[in-house]
Amino acid sequence: MTAALSSPTRGRIEVICGCMFAGKTALLIERLSEARAAGRRVRAFKHSLDTRYDVTRLATHDGRTFEAIPAADADAILRSRGDAEVIGIDEAQFFGRGLVAACQALHEAGVRVVLAGIHNDAWGRPFPPFPQLEPLQASRDVLRAACRACGAPGEFSQRMAPVTDEFMVGGVGDYEPRCAACFEPLPEPPPAY
Ligand SMILES: [Zn+2]
Repeated sequence: MTAALSSPTRGRIEVICGCMFAGKTALLIERLSEARAAGRRVRAFKHSLDTRYDVTRLATHDGRTFEAIPAADADAILRSRGDAEVIGIDEAQFFGRGLVAACQALHEAGVRVVLAGIHNDAWGRPFPPFPQLEPLQASRDVLRAACRACGAPGEFSQRMAPVTDEFMVGGVGDYEPRCAACFEPLPEPPPAY
């Protein structure tokens, strides 16, 4: 008998969402690292708009990293997925609704997809693609961070600097975590997604 080959990965969509500073990227990196340690072919993607720490690595605020391919949109992820069995996508809100069809295609192709991102925008509304992924997801972890105003667990990202783009690509100092009671939605008219 030859050694048993590891069984093929089954299609699966895992969502990690929350506010800024909740540890979303850290959990994503942990899952991808575990899959790689288990012998899976893993590939990570980040949006090419997100250049805050490193263009070609996922990075946590405290310095953990995982190599990643910059992608301009969800189609670019499909084109560059290669033979990956596990695909990680960070800051999924930057890809918007286009990510839903891409996730569906990857799921049907037997790929395990782990996405992380912000699920409430600066106006307090659900951020695509998170509501749209709900019927497809196998798991959803909502991560919280201590509200900077009262200390309670928070799920919202309070914008502390003027918004200059609809994707809220902000620096570390542009947002702080807030609970629902302390969160103050931005007053300007919201952008259309
Ligand atoms: Zn609070």
